Amino acid sequence: MSSRQTKPFKACLKCKALVRPDETKCPVCGSTEFTFEWSGMVIVLDPEKSKVAKFLDIKKPGRYALKVGY
Ligand SMILES: [Zn+2]
Repeated sequence: MSSRQTKPFKACLKCKALVRPDETKCPVCGSTEFTFEWSGMVIVLDPEKSKVAKFLDIKKPGRYALKVGY
C-alpha cells in the first residue's frame, strides 16, 4: 500500500470534522470531500459553551481540525 497519509484522521473540507480515513461520508455534514492537509485538533464537547466552536462555527460535538488546507 502506498499512501501519503500520515495522520490518523482526515478532515472534512466543508465542516472541518475529523473522521477516520476509512469513513466515506462526514458524520456531521454529510460531505464526501476530505483532505489530509489539516492542522491542529480541537475536541468540542459542548458547542453552545465553547468559544472555539463559535469561532469555527461548529454546531455539533466532535473532533475538528483548526485549519484545513494548505
Ligand atoms: Zn463535514
